Amino acid sequence: MSEVLVVGGGIMGLWAALMAARAGMDVCLVEGRHIGAGASGGILGALMPHMPDKWNAKKQFQFDALVSLESDVAALEAETGLSAGYRRSGRIMPLAKPHLREIALRHEQDALQNWQAGDRRFFWHVRDELPSGSLGAEAAACGLVFDTLGGRLAPRQMLAVLRAALAQLPNVRIVEGAGVRAIHPGPGRAELDDGVDIAFGHCILAAGVGSFPLIDTLCGPLHEPSGTGVKGQAALLLADVDPQLPVIFTDGVYIVAHDDGHVAVGSTSENKYADPLSTDELLNELLLRAEMLVPTLRGAEVVERWAGIRPKSTGREPMVGRHPDHENLSVLTGGFKVSFGIAHRLARFVVDEIAGQPTIEVPESFLCRNHIAALREKHL
Ligand SMILES: Cc1cc2nc3c(=O)[nH]c(=O)nc-3n(C[C@H](O)[C@H](O)[C@H](O)COP(=O)(O)OP(=O)(O)OC[C@H]3O[C@@H](n4cnc5c(N)ncnc54)[C@H](O)[C@@H]3O)c2cc1C
Repeated sequence: MSEVLVVGGGIMGLWAALMAARAGMDVCLVEGRHIGAGASGGILGALMPHMPDKWNAKKQFQFDALVSLESDVAALEAETGLSAGYRRSGRIMPLAKPHLREIALRHEQDALQNWQAGDRRFFWHVRDELPSGSLGAEAAACGLVFDTLGGRLAPRQMLAVLRAALAQLPNVRIVEGAGVRAIHPGPGRAELDDGVDIAFGHCILAAGVGSFPLIDTLCGPLHEPSGTGVKGQAALLLADVDPQLPVIFTDGVYIVAHDDGHVAVGSTSENKYADPLSTDELLNELLLRAEMLVPTLRGAEVVERWAGIRPKSTGREPMVGRHPDHENLSVLTGGFKVSFGIAHRLARFVVDEIAGQPTIEVPESFLCRNHIAALREKHL
């Protein structure tokens, strides 16, 4: 089979390259800057399940992905001898108001019904106290939810594991430092910023937020872009917190304890921003909220402040699969806030589709062709 060109060296592109190479395809991954230069090179790595109520195809897909990630990561760690900092540590969501506790109790039942994978069951417990760690009393005035499905990984370590796995395969080459400025699916040719041309049999566009302008150009005129970027800021603290602490989440604040003694705090969500990569007062406010939630974070040294741009499709769902107008172009982007938990399954779908051997399904609303059809319909 002729070469598969993967554009983008983030979590999506690396998983795509790995799946394609394992399927026997020759792979060239082109990354405009360096592996992890985009949103994937961050510090948080929360693996956040959807609510267990109102079950649908999207929730089932994410559930299956979160369940399967554990063994997929373990296999890669064994192959490479590296750690991805993965732990199914669970997730805690404090309940500040009585009505939230009532809703949470209903969700406990929903999880019993929906959070099952073969013999494995995952739980959504409503509790009065924290299993470990210490939440501020006000935050958890009405108890807390502890779910056993959530978890975390260390994003940069995960990328390093994938990169090391790719390095073991003879049919993969990685080109860093030159972006793709134009894709010509007809002749199967990509033009790089430095003027070099790369021929491809199939192209997988996994360039995060950089995917959208390329998709739009290939669609012909669209009145609205296929997606946009949402800025997020986060910080890494050196704090005396048990690395086994579940991910703590409430009202946009994430606290993620990692294996190496660092605790990540995220994330702002900014639709408008002047500088995509700067950090500012919004991050300071977030850190204050995190300290109120977990008082042991008070006074912890901030070792890194970081910002990145999440790829969000206009249809708000991940955007995956064959482009409707180009047989030899597939899209793999739009993971927005949850890419780390689902990228391996989305990549699997895209590569299966190229090989013509489907093994998993994705929700209809994720399919690139449906995103583009919806954008075209809007303006009829
Ligand atoms: C503050 C913050 C916190 C987050 N927390 C979490 C979390 O806890 N859990 C979670 O699952 N997700 C989280 N996310 C979201 C997650 O980081 C993203 O959804 C994910 O990284 C997107 O991966 P990607 O591979 O699609 O894009 P990216 O990681 O952005 O990778 C795209 C790559 O393509 C390259 N590129 C762009 N254009 C071109 C081109 N033309 N040619 C070649 N290369 C190109 C870029 O340099 C980049 O390296 C967070 C994001 C932010 C900003």
